[in-house]
Amino acid sequence: DKLFSGFSKTRDNLAVIDELLLYWNLNDTDRVLDELEEALLVSDFGPRITIKIVESLREDILGGKLKSGAEIKDALKNIVLDLLTKNGKKTELQLGYRRPAVIMIVGVNGGGKTTSLGKLAYRLKNEGVKILMAAGDTFRAAASDQLEIWAKRTGCEIVMAEGEKAKASSVLSQAVKRGKEQGFDVVLCDTSGRLHTNYSLMEELIACKQAVGKVVPGAPNEMLLVLDGTTGLNMLPQAREFNEVVGITGLILTKLDGSARGGCVVSVVDELGIPVKFVGVGEALEDLQPFDAEAFVDAIFA
Ligand code: GDP
Repeated sequence: DKLFSGFSKTRDNLAVIDELLLYWNLNDTDRVLDELEEALLVSDFGPRITIKIVESLREDILGGKLKSGAEIKDALKNIVLDLLTKNGKKTELQLGYRRPAVIMIVGVNGGGKTTSLGKLAYRLKNEGVKILMAAGDTFRAAASDQLEIWAKRTGCEIVMAEGEKAKASSVLSQAVKRGKEQGFDVVLCDTSGRLHTNYSLMEELIACKQAVGKVVPGAPNEMLLVLDGTTGLNMLPQAREFNEVVGITGLILTKLDGSARGGCVVSVVDELGIPVKFVGVGEALEDLQPFDAEAFVDAIFA
Protein backbone atom coordinates (compact mmCIF):
# COMPACT_ATOMS: atom_id res chain seq x y z
CA ASP A 1 0.00 0.00 0.00
CA LYS A 2 0.95 3.67 -0.01
CA LEU A 3 2.60 3.65 3.40
CA PHE A 4 4.70 0.68 2.37
CA SER A 5 5.84 2.31 -0.87
CA GLY A 6 6.58 5.62 0.87
CA PHE A 7 9.08 3.94 3.11
CA SER A 8 11.01 2.21 0.34
CA LYS A 9 14.10 4.28 1.02
CA THR A 10 14.04 3.71 4.77
CA ARG A 11 13.49 0.03 4.08
CA ASP A 12 16.45 -0.11 1.69
CA ASN A 13 18.66 1.58 4.27
CA LEU A 14 17.69 -0.90 6.91
CA ALA A 15 17.80 -3.93 4.61
CA VAL A 16 21.61 -3.81 4.53
CA ILE A 17 21.68 -5.67 7.80
CA ASP A 18 19.45 -8.50 6.58
CA GLU A 19 22.19 -10.37 4.80
CA LEU A 20 24.55 -9.94 7.73
CA LEU A 21 21.90 -11.34 10.02
CA LEU A 22 21.33 -14.28 7.73
CA TYR A 23 24.88 -15.50 8.32
CA TRP A 24 25.18 -14.15 11.83
CA ASN A 25 27.18 -15.92 14.49
CA LEU A 26 28.35 -14.62 17.84
CA ASN A 27 31.70 -13.46 16.42
CA ASP A 28 29.90 -11.16 13.98
CA THR A 29 28.02 -9.31 16.68
CA ASP A 30 30.10 -6.12 16.72
CA ARG A 31 30.16 -5.87 12.95
CA VAL A 32 26.41 -6.41 12.63
CA LEU A 33 25.61 -3.91 15.36
CA ASP A 34 27.95 -1.33 13.81
CA GLU A 35 26.18 -1.72 10.47
CA LEU A 36 22.82 -1.52 12.18
CA GLU A 37 23.85 1.64 14.01
CA GLU A 38 24.88 3.20 10.72
CA ALA A 39 21.62 2.17 9.03
CA LEU A 40 19.49 3.55 11.85
CA LEU A 41 21.35 6.87 11.80
CA VAL A 42 20.97 7.18 8.03
CA SER A 43 17.24 6.52 8.47
CA ASP A 44 16.84 9.45 10.87
CA PHE A 45 16.36 7.55 14.09
CA GLY A 46 18.69 10.06 15.73
CA PRO A 47 21.66 9.22 17.99
CA ARG A 48 19.74 8.78 21.23
CA ILE A 49 17.26 6.18 19.99
CA THR A 50 19.90 4.50 17.87
CA ILE A 51 22.14 3.90 20.88
CA LYS A 52 19.16 2.73 22.92
CA ILE A 53 18.25 0.14 20.28
CA VAL A 54 21.76 -1.08 19.57
CA GLU A 55 22.74 -1.42 23.22
CA SER A 56 19.56 -3.24 24.10
CA LEU A 57 20.23 -5.75 21.30
CA ARG A 58 23.87 -6.14 22.33
CA GLU A 59 22.85 -6.94 25.88
CA ASP A 60 20.36 -9.59 24.78
CA ILE A 61 22.81 -11.13 22.30
CA LEU A 62 25.65 -11.32 24.82
CA GLY A 63 23.26 -12.49 27.52
CA GLY A 64 22.31 -15.41 25.28
CA LYS A 65 18.68 -14.36 24.86
CA LEU A 66 18.99 -13.90 21.11
CA LYS A 67 20.46 -16.90 19.39
CA SER A 68 19.93 -16.39 15.67
CA GLY A 69 19.80 -13.66 13.07
CA ALA A 70 16.04 -14.11 12.80
CA GLU A 71 15.63 -13.63 16.54
CA ILE A 72 17.74 -10.48 16.41
CA LYS A 73 15.61 -9.09 13.59
CA ASP A 74 12.40 -9.85 15.50
CA ALA A 75 13.82 -8.26 18.64
CA LEU A 76 14.74 -5.16 16.63
CA LYS A 77 11.20 -4.84 15.31
CA ASN A 78 9.77 -5.36 18.78
CA ILE A 79 11.96 -2.67 20.32
CA VAL A 80 10.78 -0.17 17.71
CA LEU A 81 7.17 -1.24 18.20
CA ASP A 82 7.54 -0.79 21.97
CA LEU A 83 9.01 2.67 21.51
CA LEU A 84 6.04 3.62 19.36
CA THR A 85 3.39 2.24 21.68
CA LYS A 86 4.83 2.61 25.16
CA ASN A 87 2.55 5.52 25.94
CA GLY A 88 -0.43 3.34 25.28
CA LYS A 89 -2.12 2.79 22.00
CA LYS A 90 -4.30 5.86 22.27
CA THR A 91 -4.30 6.56 18.60
CA GLU A 92 -8.05 7.22 18.44
CA LEU A 93 -9.31 10.76 18.81
CA GLN A 94 -10.37 11.60 22.37
CA LEU A 95 -13.40 13.84 21.92
CA GLY A 96 -14.94 13.86 25.39
CA TYR A 97 -18.69 14.01 25.91
CA ARG A 98 -19.51 17.69 25.44
CA ARG A 99 -20.62 18.87 22.02
CA PRO A 100 -19.27 20.28 19.95
CA ALA A 101 -15.89 18.67 20.45
CA VAL A 102 -13.12 20.91 19.21
CA ILE A 103 -10.07 19.76 17.27
CA MET A 104 -7.34 22.31 16.60
CA ILE A 105 -4.81 21.58 13.89
CA VAL A 106 -1.45 23.32 14.24
CA GLY A 107 1.91 23.20 12.48
CA VAL A 108 4.19 25.24 10.27
CA ASN A 109 3.07 26.33 6.81
CA GLY A 110 3.53 23.82 4.06
CA GLY A 111 3.45 20.81 6.35
CA GLY A 112 -0.01 19.76 5.24
CA LYS A 113 -2.32 21.29 7.85
CA THR A 114 -5.17 22.34 5.60
CA THR A 115 -5.01 19.18 3.51
CA SER A 116 -5.02 17.01 6.64
CA LEU A 117 -7.96 18.94 8.05
CA GLY A 118 -9.91 18.29 4.83
CA LYS A 119 -9.05 14.61 4.85
CA LEU A 120 -9.95 14.30 8.53
CA ALA A 121 -13.29 16.00 7.89
CA TYR A 122 -13.98 13.53 5.11
CA ARG A 123 -13.12 10.61 7.34
CA LEU A 124 -15.25 11.78 10.28
CA LYS A 125 -18.15 12.71 8.04
CA ASN A 126 -18.19 9.20 6.64
CA GLU A 127 -18.55 7.98 10.21
CA GLY A 128 -21.67 10.12 10.54
CA VAL A 129 -20.06 12.98 12.46
CA LYS A 130 -21.49 16.44 11.77
CA ILE A 131 -18.51 18.67 11.05
CA LEU A 132 -18.07 22.44 11.06
CA MET A 133 -14.80 23.81 9.72
CA ALA A 134 -13.24 27.00 11.07
CA ALA A 135 -10.79 28.99 8.95
CA GLY A 136 -8.43 30.13 11.68
CA ASP A 137 -5.52 30.93 9.39
CA THR A 138 -6.53 34.56 9.04
CA PHE A 139 -3.03 35.63 8.14
CA ARG A 140 -3.11 34.36 4.57
CA ALA A 141 -6.28 34.97 2.60
CA ALA A 142 -5.34 32.07 0.34
CA ALA A 143 -5.44 29.70 3.31
CA SER A 144 -9.14 30.40 3.95
CA ASP A 145 -9.90 29.99 0.26
CA GLN A 146 -8.10 26.70 0.24
CA LEU A 147 -10.05 25.48 3.27
CA GLU A 148 -13.28 26.59 1.59
CA ILE A 149 -12.43 24.30 -1.32
CA TRP A 150 -12.04 21.41 1.12
CA ALA A 151 -15.36 22.32 2.74
CA LYS A 152 -17.08 22.12 -0.65
CA ARG A 153 -15.29 18.92 -1.55
CA THR A 154 -16.35 17.21 1.66
CA GLY A 155 -19.78 18.83 1.90
CA CYS A 156 -19.01 20.46 5.25
CA GLU A 157 -20.01 23.89 6.45
CA ILE A 158 -17.36 26.45 7.22
CA VAL A 159 -16.95 29.61 9.29
CA MET A 160 -14.60 32.16 7.76
CA ALA A 161 -13.24 35.52 8.88
CA GLU A 162 -15.44 38.52 8.23
CA GLY A 163 -13.27 41.42 7.19
CA GLU A 164 -9.55 41.53 6.68
CA LYS A 165 -8.48 42.30 10.22
CA ALA A 166 -10.39 39.52 11.92
CA LYS A 167 -8.45 37.81 14.67
CA ALA A 168 -7.94 34.09 14.47
CA SER A 169 -9.18 33.64 18.03
CA SER A 170 -12.45 35.40 17.30
CA VAL A 171 -13.07 33.35 14.15
CA LEU A 172 -12.56 30.14 16.11
CA SER A 173 -14.67 31.35 18.99
CA GLN A 174 -17.51 32.27 16.60
CA ALA A 175 -17.26 28.89 14.95
CA VAL A 176 -17.48 27.02 18.23
CA LYS A 177 -20.48 29.16 19.28
CA ARG A 178 -22.20 28.32 16.05
CA GLY A 179 -21.28 24.68 16.50
CA LYS A 180 -22.94 24.75 19.89
CA GLU A 181 -26.08 26.54 18.74
CA GLN A 182 -26.59 24.43 15.65
CA GLY A 183 -25.80 21.00 17.01
CA PHE A 184 -22.51 20.22 15.28
CA ASP A 185 -20.54 17.29 16.69
CA VAL A 186 -17.05 18.49 15.91
CA VAL A 187 -15.52 21.85 15.05
CA LEU A 188 -12.30 21.40 13.07
CA CYS A 189 -10.10 24.47 13.48
CA ASP A 190 -7.39 25.41 11.01
CA THR A 191 -4.70 27.74 12.35
CA SER A 192 -1.89 29.85 11.03
CA GLY A 193 1.59 28.42 10.62
CA ARG A 194 3.69 31.34 9.54
CA LEU A 195 7.14 31.61 11.01
CA HIS A 196 9.64 34.44 11.04
CA THR A 197 7.28 37.38 11.39
CA ASN A 198 7.12 40.00 14.10
CA TYR A 199 3.80 38.75 15.20
CA SER A 200 4.03 35.81 17.54
CA LEU A 201 2.40 32.70 16.21
CA MET A 202 2.65 31.02 19.58
CA GLU A 203 0.80 33.85 21.33
CA GLU A 204 -1.91 33.64 18.71
CA LEU A 205 -2.27 29.90 19.25
CA ILE A 206 -2.55 30.39 23.00
CA ALA A 207 -5.27 33.01 22.42
CA CYS A 208 -7.09 30.60 20.09
CA LYS A 209 -6.92 27.81 22.62
CA GLN A 210 -8.30 30.04 25.36
CA ALA A 211 -11.03 31.43 23.13
CA VAL A 212 -12.50 28.04 22.28
CA GLY A 213 -12.21 26.92 25.91
CA LYS A 214 -14.38 29.84 26.93
CA VAL A 215 -17.21 28.63 24.72
CA VAL A 216 -17.00 24.93 25.56
CA PRO A 217 -15.31 23.91 28.81
CA GLY A 218 -12.50 21.46 28.16
CA ALA A 219 -12.07 22.51 24.53
CA PRO A 220 -9.96 22.01 22.53
CA ASN A 221 -10.29 18.27 23.02
CA GLU A 222 -7.49 17.57 20.61
CA MET A 223 -4.51 19.71 19.67
CA LEU A 224 -3.06 17.91 16.68
CA LEU A 225 0.36 18.85 15.38
CA VAL A 226 0.97 18.28 11.69
CA LEU A 227 4.54 17.29 10.86
CA ASP A 228 6.00 16.86 7.40
CA GLY A 229 7.38 13.32 7.32
CA THR A 230 9.99 14.23 4.72
CA THR A 231 11.78 16.74 6.96
CA GLY A 232 13.54 14.13 9.06
CA LEU A 233 14.95 15.03 12.42
CA ASN A 234 14.34 18.73 11.78
CA MET A 235 10.82 18.10 12.97
CA LEU A 236 11.99 17.50 16.53
CA PRO A 237 12.74 21.05 17.75
CA GLN A 238 9.60 22.24 15.99
CA ALA A 239 7.46 19.65 17.72
CA ARG A 240 9.06 20.43 21.06
CA GLU A 241 8.24 24.12 20.75
CA PHE A 242 4.60 23.63 19.81
CA ASN A 243 4.21 21.11 22.60
CA GLU A 244 5.70 23.39 25.23
CA VAL A 245 3.47 26.29 24.23
CA VAL A 246 0.07 24.77 23.48
CA GLY A 247 0.28 21.15 24.63
CA ILE A 248 0.02 18.70 21.75
CA THR A 249 -2.29 15.69 22.18
CA GLY A 250 -1.50 13.87 18.96
CA LEU A 251 0.55 13.96 15.79
CA ILE A 252 -0.42 13.81 12.15
CA LEU A 253 2.55 12.80 10.03
CA THR A 254 2.13 13.82 6.43
CA LYS A 255 3.73 12.96 3.11
CA LEU A 256 4.59 9.44 4.16
CA ASP A 257 3.84 8.41 0.58
CA GLY A 258 6.85 10.32 -0.73
CA SER A 259 10.38 9.75 0.43
CA ALA A 260 9.48 9.71 4.07
CA ARG A 261 12.17 9.39 6.67
CA GLY A 262 10.88 6.68 8.91
CA GLY A 263 13.21 6.89 11.86
CA CYS A 264 12.23 10.38 12.93
CA VAL A 265 8.72 9.11 13.64
CA VAL A 266 10.13 6.87 16.33
CA SER A 267 12.34 9.64 17.61
CA VAL A 268 9.57 12.22 17.92
CA VAL A 269 7.14 9.80 19.60
CA ASP A 270 9.78 8.69 22.06
CA GLU A 271 11.04 12.15 22.87
CA LEU A 272 7.68 13.88 23.28
CA GLY A 273 5.64 10.95 24.51
CA ILE A 274 2.83 11.96 22.16
CA PRO A 275 1.06 9.36 20.02
CA VAL A 276 0.81 9.55 16.25
CA LYS A 277 -2.92 9.57 15.52
CA PHE A 278 -2.99 9.77 11.73
CA VAL A 279 -0.66 9.51 8.78
CA GLY A 280 -1.04 11.28 5.45
CA VAL A 281 -0.22 9.13 2.46
CA GLY A 282 -1.25 11.33 -0.46
CA GLU A 283 -3.23 14.34 -1.54
CA ALA A 284 -6.62 12.76 -2.14
CA LEU A 285 -9.57 12.78 0.27
CA GLU A 286 -9.10 9.22 1.41
CA ASP A 287 -5.35 9.56 1.96
CA LEU A 288 -5.42 9.91 5.73
CA GLN A 289 -5.08 6.71 7.71
CA PRO A 290 -5.25 6.03 11.44
CA PHE A 291 -1.73 5.28 12.62
CA ASP A 292 -1.03 1.58 12.91
CA ALA A 293 2.29 1.00 14.68
CA GLU A 294 2.56 -2.61 13.52
CA ALA A 295 1.96 -1.72 9.88
CA PHE A 296 4.53 1.04 10.27
CA VAL A 297 7.16 -1.33 11.65
CA ASP A 298 6.42 -3.80 8.84
CA ALA A 299 6.79 -1.01 6.31
CA ILE A 300 10.23 0.07 7.49
CA PHE A 301 11.64 -3.39 8.17
CA ALA A 302 10.70 -5.57 5.23
P1 GDP B 1 -0.38 23.90 5.21
O1 GDP B 1 0.34 25.12 4.73
O2 GDP B 1 0.28 23.30 6.40
O3 GDP B 1 -1.84 24.09 5.38
O4 GDP B 1 -0.13 22.80 4.06
P2 GDP B 1 -1.10 22.32 2.89
O5 GDP B 1 -2.22 21.52 3.43
O6 GDP B 1 -1.42 23.46 2.02
O7 GDP B 1 -0.13 21.29 2.13
C1 GDP B 1 1.08 21.68 1.52
C2 GDP B 1 1.36 20.76 0.32
O8 GDP B 1 1.60 19.44 0.76
C3 GDP B 1 0.19 20.67 -0.64
O9 GDP B 1 0.68 20.67 -1.95
C4 GDP B 1 -0.45 19.33 -0.30
O10 GDP B 1 -1.13 18.79 -1.38
C5 GDP B 1 0.75 18.52 0.09
N1 GDP B 1 0.42 17.43 1.01
C6 GDP B 1 -0.21 17.49 2.21
N2 GDP B 1 -0.31 16.27 2.78
C7 GDP B 1 0.26 15.39 1.92
C8 GDP B 1 0.49 13.96 1.94
O11 GDP B 1 0.16 13.22 2.88
N3 GDP B 1 1.12 13.43 0.85
C9 GDP B 1 1.54 14.20 -0.20
N4 GDP B 1 2.16 13.60 -1.20
N5 GDP B 1 1.36 15.53 -0.24
C10 GDP B 1 0.72 16.12 0.79
